[in-house]
Order: sequence, then C-alpha cells, then structure tokens
Amino acid sequence: MIGAGPAGLTAAHELTRRGLPVTVFEADDVVGGISRTVEREGWRFDIGGHRFFTKVPAVERWWHEVLPEEDFLSRPRMSRILYAGKLFDYPLKPVNALRNLGLVEAIRSVASYVAAKLRPPRDQSHFEGWVSARFGQRLYRIFFKTYTEKVWGMPATAIQADWAAQRIKNLSLGSAIVHALFPRQGQTEVTTLIDRFQYPRTGPGLMWERATEQVRAGGGEVRLGTAVVGLLRGDLGVVAVEVESRDADGTAVRRVVSADEVISSMPLPELVLAMDPPAPADVREAARALSHRDFLTVALVVPEVCGFPDNWIYVHSPEARVGRVQNFGSWSPHLVKDGRTCLGLEYFVDEGDDLWESDDADLVALATAELELLGLVPSGAVERGYVVRMPKAYPVYDEGYDRQVDVIRGWLGGAVPNVHPVGRNGMHRYNNADHSMVTAMLTVENIAEGTAHDVWSVNVEEDYHEGSGPVAGDDRTPGAAGPLGPTAPAAGTGRSAPVRPAPSVRAA
Ligand SMILES: Cc1cc2nc3c(=O)[nH]c(=O)nc-3n(C[C@H](O)[C@H](O)[C@H](O)COP(=O)(O)OP(=O)(O)OC[C@H]3O[C@@H](n4cnc5c(N)ncnc54)[C@H](O)[C@@H]3O)c2cc1C
Repeated sequence: MIGAGPAGLTAAHELTRRGLPVTVFEADDVVGGISRTVEREGWRFDIGGHRFFTKVPAVERWWHEVLPEEDFLSRPRMSRILYAGKLFDYPLKPVNALRNLGLVEAIRSVASYVAAKLRPPRDQSHFEGWVSARFGQRLYRIFFKTYTEKVWGMPATAIQADWAAQRIKNLSLGSAIVHALFPRQGQTEVTTLIDRFQYPRTGPGLMWERATEQVRAGGGEVRLGTAVVGLLRGDLGVVAVEVESRDADGTAVRRVVSADEVISSMPLPELVLAMDPPAPADVREAARALSHRDFLTVALVVPEVCGFPDNWIYVHSPEARVGRVQNFGSWSPHLVKDGRTCLGLEYFVDEGDDLWESDDADLVALATAELELLGLVPSGAVERGYVVRMPKAYPVYDEGYDRQVDVIRGWLGGAVPNVHPVGRNGMHRYNNADHSMVTAMLTVENIAEGTAHDVWSVNVEEDYHEGSGPVAGDDRTPGAAGPLGPTAPAAGTGRSAPVRPAPSVRAA
C-alpha cells in the first residue's frame, strides 16, 4: 500500500480485517495525509478543517468502528463571507445581506443588474463577463471576483466562461433571491446534514492514528518516513516496489520489496513516472500534463476573545491575499488551550511561488498584518504563529485533464493490472475523505473477494454519490463561493473543484 492517508489506511484496515498481509509505505513522518492533524507546541490544526459527513453507510460505520463514540463531537457548522469589513451570512440571507450592503449599495446592485440585463457585457467568454452578465457588475465584484481569483491565482478575465457556466449553471439573481427567501425549497438531506457535522475530538488525525494502531494490532505494517520511489514491472504487472528511507545518520537507503498487489494513493503522475521500465512516452506525457494546486496555512495563536463563532470565514476582501480564516477553537475546544484559540489563515498557492518560498517568519508577519487589516484581530493580540505547507492539496482539473487520466488508466489497466490507484491524488479526482475511503474499500473487495467493482465510478455513478444539494454545496473546498454557496451545483455532489482554464487561456 502506498500512502497512509484515509485511502491507504482504509485499505490496510480492510485487508488486515480479512487476515491478509499488508505493508503500508508512507513517505511522511505522520499518518493522515491531507486529513492529518498537525500539532505544534500543543496546538492542533487541520489542513483546511475536515468535516466528517458522508452518505455512504459503509464509511459512516467504519468511522464509528475505528473511533469510539466518546472521541466524536457533533459540531454546528457556521461560516460567513467577509467583504468590505462586513460579515455576510453564508449562504446569503436577504435581511442580513441588505443590512450589510446598505440601502445605497443594494439599490446600486439592483441598478447594475438591470443594466447588465439591458446591455450585457460584450465579452462573455470569460468568468467575469459571464457572471456579471447574470448578476450585474456590482454583485459580481462583491461575491464572485476576488475569492475566485485567489483560488485560481489568476485574473477572472483569464478564466474561461465554461467553468462558470458549469458551476453556476442556471443560477441567476432571480433564482438566488428565491433561494435566499425560501431556503428550504428544493434542499436535500445533505444540506440539512451539513448544518452539523461530526468531528474527532482532537482533529481528523485522531481517526488515522487509531486506524494505524488497529492495522498494526491486526498484523499489518505501517512504515513511516518511507517513500515508494520505483515500481518494478514484470511481464504481467508490478513485481516489486523500491522504497527509500533514511538511516540513523540521515543517509538515504533504498531497498526493493516484492509485492503481489500494489494499492496506490501517491499522486497519479508520480506513480506513472516511477515505473521501471518506464511507461510508454504518451503515458508519461499524459502524467506530466496533470498538475496540482498547493495550500499553505498560517496558524496564529490569539486570546480566545479574539476568535469568532464561525468554523471559517471566506475572505472576499481584495486587499488581503488570505482566502479563508479558520477558527480551530470553533472546530473543537480540544484543538486549543490556555484561554486562547488558533486562527488558520489559508492561502491558495503554487509550490515555488512567492508565498510558498517565503520564510515562515515573514508569513506569520503577513498573516498577522492581514488579520488586522481585515478588522478581525489587532496585531498586538497575536502571540505566536506556525506555518504548514501542503503540496498537492488539490488535483487540478485543467481543460483536457480527463483525457490524460483516461490515457493513464487505460495503460495501467493493461500493463500493470495489479496496480490499483485509489483516493484523491491517487486517482487525480476531487474526492473527499469519504469517497477516497470508498475507492479503497472497493479495491480491497476486488482483490480479496474477486469482485469487479469499477473503482473509477465512485463519485460519478449515482450509487456512490452524495445527494446533490442545489446550491448550498460543500465549502470544504475552495470553489468560487457564490452568493448562495460555492458555485458547484453541476457535479451532483455540490462540491466545487478548482478547474483551471486551458494553458492557452492561462498564457493569455
Ligand atoms: C483544504 C482541504 C479541506 C478538506 N476538507 C475536507 C473535509 O472537510 N472533509 C473531507 O471528507 N475531505 C476533505 N478534504 C479532502 C481530504 O483531505 C482528502 O479526500 C483525503 O485526505 C484524501 O485521502 P487520500 O488517502 O486519497 O490522500 P492523501 O490524504 O493525500 O494521502 C496520501 C498519502 O500518501 C503519501 N504519499 C504520497 N506519495 C508517496 C510515496 N511516493 N510513497 C509513500 N507515500 C506517499 C502522502 O504523504 C500522504 O500521506 C479536504 C482537502 C483539502 C485540501
């Protein structure tokens, strides 16, 4: 098994439960992958804040088998949008929105909507033109532009309209108002479900630490600090993996471990490029064409009174680079201590860009200054800060990414049928933890019981779907937060994905 995130540990747990031998190789020194809980000097924080909710009964059961009831909290969900110093309820509520916009801005917004209807923007080929044609310039600027630009790291005029069209679908100001006035209309169970969510007492990492203990107790091995760097191919598939770890004095040591089946949650392109002998040129090219968006959190310790009741706040204010601010104290009182809370300022970045490369001290200073600028916390109240960088947090859906994944899938299935990609980056799929786990469960059934589940259909086929929320969506992920929620009603799960424009558009 490659990787000890949710997918890897679920697979390992399912294998040991069946009495089958398994070794998990995890490159990092901690378990949980993107769903880990980071601990620094007794402060705990997630990579983004991980809500546990699922419509898949097997996953729900699994969580409660692994973690005893007393380790679960049921938390209320609250989040708002910060813009121009005002906090807008999220999803929007008409009275609150009107009060925050003020009568003058509300009239201007309606006028700008009418103007857009009478004289729509000429160029609607990009996100800005497309959205402002439907909502008017002013609402577009308040509720769409800035956050979208932060997520994508590019101007909204460089983002294809297709993306908005897919995500926002038939949403218009009219339907927005109807939904805001009659919030229950057309809503599904999911929307209700996510008003509250489950959360392990000391963060999501607790689940994965317990799972690791249980895998080990069941006879499985979990080797941390051990990266899979090569997959050695024979005629019928992969026969061994090459792993690299460090010995006591820090020297890299490589060894080869034979394998009957390989379940992989390492990033799909890296899996392909680690094949030995190498995959054919077109498959390697497809792998190289896939990309990721990265993520950086600056966690600042402040007195509890400086916190807020929200789990997180979306920052639409253009003057700050931060995209969201988590209050980890609102997730669980067990993440924080000493009458203080920890605020996680989240930046959407690309590995190697200026933020990614900045010194931790500079990032803490930036985040501290931005909290003050936004009017959330005076800078003198920040006591200390920690920086966590998470590469490859989001598999990017570029134009054509699905064709590249198909090329890779096709080749893997034919040349190395005993290699089973699972999970999020493992399948280059926008899977949340529950769906990542389902891919692992089905893979283990295929291996252990000879079933023929199509693991790639998870999150695509209705059977494995979460019910679709019309517009409320799931804000675990940084889609463009529209006035009714992240604008991702089209995909069925209501979860938004940072789809990027084609390279040609990007270059433009
Ligand atoms: C900001 C953010 C918020 C999120 N919020 C939620 C949420 O609220 N609820 C939810 O359900 N999901 C959420 N998710 C999604 C969730 O984090 C993922 O679905 C889940 O962690 C994926 O599990 P995985 O095991 O497939 O991959 P990962 O968590 O990425 O784990 C893969 C593991 O493989 C290891 N690895 C990689 N390469 C190698 C190698 N060569 N050798 C050995 N090991 C390797 C990595 O170190 C890692 O530990 C969120 C994601 C983000 C980015």
